[in-house]
Amino acid sequence: MSIRILPDHVINRIAAGEVVERPASVVKELVENAIDAGATRVEVATAGGGKSLIRISDNGCGIREPDLALAVERHCTSKLPEDDLSQIGTLGFRGEALASIGSVARLSILSRHAEEPHAWQIAVEGGRRSETVPASHSGGTQIEVRDLFFATPARLKFLRSDRAEATAITEAVKRLALAHPEIRFTLSGSDRTTLDLSAARGESGALERMAQILGAGFRDNAMPIGGEREGVLLSGYAGLPTFNRANSLQQFIFVNGRPLKDPVLAGALRAAYSDVLARDRYPVLALFIDLDPADVDVNVHPAKMEVRFRDPGMIRGLIIGTIRDALAREGFRSASTGGL
Ligand code: ADP
Ligand code: MG
Repeated sequence: MSIRILPDHVINRIAAGEVVERPASVVKELVENAIDAGATRVEVATAGGGKSLIRISDNGCGIREPDLALAVERHCTSKLPEDDLSQIGTLGFRGEALASIGSVARLSILSRHAEEPHAWQIAVEGGRRSETVPASHSGGTQIEVRDLFFATPARLKFLRSDRAEATAITEAVKRLALAHPEIRFTLSGSDRTTLDLSAARGESGALERMAQILGAGFRDNAMPIGGEREGVLLSGYAGLPTFNRANSLQQFIFVNGRPLKDPVLAGALRAAYSDVLARDRYPVLALFIDLDPADVDVNVHPAKMEVRFRDPGMIRGLIIGTIRDALAREGFRSASTGGL
């Protein structure tokens, strides 16, 4: 058999397998796009656990008419103007999400850029793109994704119940909403899932958003966290050891505003609490690490949930040291200083 370059729609479906695992990954990618577009309001609506419909509306910058057809092409992005992967300041940069979604679902984008006289619309179904046509929309962008994975039935079979997929969607919205208290988020679904997170600014706004997501009890059971090492900042709130859970679902950690599930960070959190909390219990927390984008590689994983730090040992030390100091101030003393 001779070697050939695969057709684009097959390439896109292969890539989609990594970027779009389930409805919640679609929601994550589209909400990230709304945040990158500078939206102050993001509305998410779903039906059938996101399998039949996901609709995301934002009041961000919108997409110009000539950019609409490009936006749904693979490797097309407005977010790497200098081709510099070491200075990524946006959540997106791979230019893959819309192309991937369009290759496995029915995607429709309705957008009005401030400099356009009216809105424009484009649709992609199973990788086939429509013309860009004039449309009516007040401003910002509305993206609809219908019949997710209709083009890849094998993947469709692996999805869980509507209820379980809806829960994963809620979690994805919560993760991004925690990092952006200045944005109002709403989520509504046909399956009783609803969220209405009003916008609030400043330190009190951040704490208010955490209370909305981590529970009202968090406010009275959390310690403010503030630390710095070699220009890396650690901030946020960490729960007292007494405010713990049986799993790590209520642990949120962000690097430059990006929610992560990172083994290095999870290990550091475990070590920080190791002397004051049983091994099978997890503190509730929302922590933010901010550092020079050049010191962290976010291009590790297609879904962008993991990163590589230039100096993981230093990050680990910063987390353990700062949390242990805060615990000591609350009267929870560590028996050792091991793990640093
Ligand atoms: P990436 O986010 O990595 O650039 P995407 O496939 O998610 O890739 O999006 C492609 C491009 O479409 C983005 O770079 C952006 O210019 C545009 N875009 C997507 N969603 C929005 C939105 N909600 N508002 C404005 N522009 C958007
Ligand atoms: Mg994106």
